[in-house]
Amino acid sequence: MIIQHKYCIIFMCFAILQIICAIQAFKSEKPIGRFTGILNLAIMTPIIANIVIIESKSPVLSYFGYYLSYIGMTMIMLALTFFTERYCMGVDENRAHTRPYFIHVMATVDIVQISLGPLFNHVINLEKTELDGRVFYRDLPRIGLTFHRIVDYVIYGAVLLIFIISIVRTTKLYRQKYIIIFITMILAGASQFAFIRSRIPIDRSIIVHGLFGLVVFYFSILYRPLRLLDAMLSYVVSDMNDAVFVFDNSNKCVWVNDQGYSLLDMDEHKLSRVTDRLFNKFTNITDKGEHWSENRVVDDRYYILEKKAVKTDNKNLDGTFLVIKDDTKRHKDIEREIYNSTHDILTGLYNMEHLYANVENIVHASDEVLNIIFINVKNFKLVKDTFGKDFADVVLIRIANWLKANIKNGVYGRLIGDTFGVCIPKKDFDEDLFLEEMGNFVVKNRNIEHKINIHIGVYEITDTEMDVSVMFDRAHLAITDIEENYKTVIRYYNDELRKTIMEEQRLATDLINAIDVDNIRPYLQPIADKDGKVVGAEALARWMHPDLGFLQPNRFIPVFEKNGMITDLDRHIWKDACRILARWKDTNPDMFISVNISPKDFYFVDVLEEITGLVKEYDIDPKKLRIEITETAMMTDSEEKMAIFNKLRKSGFIVEMDDFGSGYSSLNLLKDMPVDVLKLDMHFLSDENNKRSDTIIRNIINLSNELNIITLTEGVETEEQYYLLKEMGCSLFQGYYFAKPMTVEDFEASYP
Ligand code: C2E
Ligand code: CA
Ligand code: CA
Repeated sequence: MIIQHKYCIIFMCFAILQIICAIQAFKSEKPIGRFTGILNLAIMTPIIANIVIIESKSPVLSYFGYYLSYIGMTMIMLALTFFTERYCMGVDENRAHTRPYFIHVMATVDIVQISLGPLFNHVINLEKTELDGRVFYRDLPRIGLTFHRIVDYVIYGAVLLIFIISIVRTTKLYRQKYIIIFITMILAGASQFAFIRSRIPIDRSIIVHGLFGLVVFYFSILYRPLRLLDAMLSYVVSDMNDAVFVFDNSNKCVWVNDQGYSLLDMDEHKLSRVTDRLFNKFTNITDKGEHWSENRVVDDRYYILEKKAVKTDNKNLDGTFLVIKDDTKRHKDIEREIYNSTHDILTGLYNMEHLYANVENIVHASDEVLNIIFINVKNFKLVKDTFGKDFADVVLIRIANWLKANIKNGVYGRLIGDTFGVCIPKKDFDEDLFLEEMGNFVVKNRNIEHKINIHIGVYEITDTEMDVSVMFDRAHLAITDIEENYKTVIRYYNDELRKTIMEEQRLATDLINAIDVDNIRPYLQPIADKDGKVVGAEALARWMHPDLGFLQPNRFIPVFEKNGMITDLDRHIWKDACRILARWKDTNPDMFISVNISPKDFYFVDVLEEITGLVKEYDIDPKKLRIEITETAMMTDSEEKMAIFNKLRKSGFIVEMDDFGSGYSSLNLLKDMPVDVLKLDMHFLSDENNKRSDTIIRNIINLSNELNIITLTEGVETEEQYYLLKEMGCSLFQGYYFAKPMTVEDFEASYP
């Protein structure tokens, strides 16, 4: 085979390879793909041109081949600039590339001038020679070709420069991809130069160009910087919080990161001992198959173990790696979160929601009779105000600790604020223990010591379908009306209690309106003197309730005394009494009215100011409005009250001590009491042994008279009582014997 044919075949192989590369490059998803593709096609042009040149037997065809090869060369240069621009600066569609326009212009001028070669014959001449026994036309350069070569070398130089800059600037890992293309490019340029200088017939540098095309294709399309990946992965793995162990296919540990060593408490980084250590700590980790993941708890720490096999050719095992993640913190966080969402921070007891949920479960699971217990600290706010928050907290903690120590077979928790809840089988509820210890609950903190009053409401669960919150409401309800009574500590819920409390609540809501529409009015009960002549009356409240009918004060007075609304009612009655007295100024100028003052009134209003205000407003003589206050009320905060009574008396009011004998006050006290009238109640003074009570009454009356205190006996029901009392020296009388309390109209009609 002649040399032409040999080269022809070689060149054709390269041409085909360029086409394949170009197709692959265009197909590639890489942004640089199309630039590589164009470069491969450009390289293919001079290759084909050279095939034409070496196989040509006519000068015309040879001319064509040469012109095509020159144009092809310039096209390579042009494609190379585009390629280099992307390859060396990265392809970023958004970035404005500085386009080397002068190169485009030069290249275009060059292509045009070569294309005009056949016309002006300024590019080459052909010289006929012989090669391997066959005619061969060799090119003889003229001015056009020199220009072409200058253009190409200028572009070539610029491209080389860009590659040099890139090589210098890039990191070690990427340098390779620039250096290899750069070297191939130098080789291509050098071989071309050598060819031009040698003047041998066939352009063997075409082979180097072809190789260059392949190298470009490889590095721009196929090449992946494996070492980059290696470096990055090892960086990532070393920096990971997880411990990573890599094993080869014989299960020998070949790599461990620092976390791996510290997980195994190995100060010395000895790979050979890693497997043993792993076994010691995690026992079974090898014969569990190739892929698995497991959660383990070792020495109170939580780990996630994950093992994976690596098979590069999908069949044979190359190795495995084990990643151990210490999940303890997350576990502890979750545990803490669950704890916080179910527990009260201060006392460590269950919070209300969690307690309710637990009670719900117990109620449904248990076949025992259960008690719901509601524990309330009385006057907790007062304790907090008086002794401070720290002490108040200690109180709650102490109660919590008591529950922890004493509730063995039940659940308990803190409800809201100063209340606690317990659910316990009825048989395990030690009522005596609660009474004894909660009833005498003394809390000490630093230098403060205080007895805490605790109320305990108990509801025995009868309806297990009832909402747990309602059960606790019922236990709570049991103690709502022992607020005032410190002696009672434990109270049981029953339906009666519920009804009463509901009614009380209802009355409380109805009160304000009742006052507004005058459904609550004073009835008047006559008070007579020694001759039986009515000289005044006591105003006693009555309620004409639209639904409940006519209500006696014992139905509503205690309720309002408890909730503090009594003051609204009293002021209403006082006002009505003043209104009546104002009316009587002309008709009944000597008649007085006594009004009742609840001990609670002193807490809520300035009684003195209130009463003097009314007297002024209605322009009545203060003597006509008598003030009644019970003996027991008088005895609490007596000094304060005495001061008020003195002032009232100075203002001209007559002060009466109501229900004398109901309390425990001694007769001695009487002389200190700033009262004008003593009201004795027959109920408190009479008993079976009439003789004795007579003596007591007689003595009281005598003493009063000596102290210049007028006596008034109420509850006089019989003529006999009336005469006896009169004989004993009593001055005023009130009771059914004279008249029952009656409406104001009836009173005015009876005693005009
Ligand atoms: P109190 O102040 O001791 O009033 C006397 C009570 O004895 C009245 O009962 C009266 O109806 C009743 N009574 C009078 N004579 C006799 C009698 O011969 N036999 C018997 N068995 N009872 C007699 P009432 O009106 O039911 O009042 C009960 C209590 O309610 C009063 O006792 C008083 O503490 C309170 N109360 C009544 N109205 C008011 C008021 O407007 N304000 C305040 N704070 N308390 C009032
Ligand atoms: Ca009274
Ligand atoms: Ca009374």
